[in-house]
Amino acid sequence: MAEVNEPVDAQSRRAAKPIVCYETDKLPEVDMPAYQIARESLELVAEYTAAPRDACAFDVPAGHFFRIVSVEGPQVGDLNLWSASNLEERFFSGKTRQLHATHVTTGDRLWSNLPHLRALATITHDTLGWYGWDADGAGVHDVIGTRCDPYTNHALRGLHYHYCCHSNLTRALAKHTGLTAQQAERHIHDVLNVFMCTGFSLDTHQYFMKASPVRPGDFIEFFAETDLLGALSACPGGDCGASHSDDATPCYPLRVEVYRNTSEALKNWQPAELNAYDQSHGLK
Ligand SMILES: [Zn+2]
Repeated sequence: MAEVNEPVDAQSRRAAKPIVCYETDKLPEVDMPAYQIARESLELVAEYTAAPRDACAFDVPAGHFFRIVSVEGPQVGDLNLWSASNLEERFFSGKTRQLHATHVTTGDRLWSNLPHLRALATITHDTLGWYGWDADGAGVHDVIGTRCDPYTNHALRGLHYHYCCHSNLTRALAKHTGLTAQQAERHIHDVLNVFMCTGFSLDTHQYFMKASPVRPGDFIEFFAETDLLGALSACPGGDCGASHSDDATPCYPLRVEVYRNTSEALKNWQPAELNAYDQSHGLK
């Protein structure tokens, strides 16, 4: 590689002050106290299970809560979310990352893609909220990685492995909607890596994973800001402490629980509205 010399003012250029990109205090307000009251009076209405190295699809009506629960053993999940009435509107991990952080927890929201850009769900509880940032710079529930997929696996190892999260999510969506595998695959998108413990290495800034701190009984809980269709894959990486995209690691199921709110706390709540930008893009 050709050597590049530093300019004489390199030090002062590097000293530019970082500015947080978005004024997140201007986002539509979240009435977290009302959500916290509502979550005291929840009634379980549906349960789904993502089997190890497989995925389940599930419906969550607007105004309901849903939980992703660790059962049996430490396990990472890959979550996709769509507007139930329009599969073209889906979770946008990149903008969620920019608006909140590389890893999300209670109070953060899961935003949808352009041109819809609205909150699909709000995180209302996270039993791993204590983890914070560890000495390696890692956190839990990242929106930086994508799902494991058979194409990258083939590029790196020359194998045809069919139980990566990308394929698991494809099968679950196809079975739930009646779409073909090829049609369903087009709707699979970058995920929320539920329970996954990840970061960027401090020296080379490479994406790394380490054994998830999740234990059976832990859960992350969401409030559905509109009618949702979800899909959750129990990653072949298990707790992602060793490998992924193979059958080498112990894997456990994940449970999805859907709850109806029976309190009056959210009586003034309204479903999230689609983004109001006029979409003219400077053209008349
Ligand atoms: Zn995976």
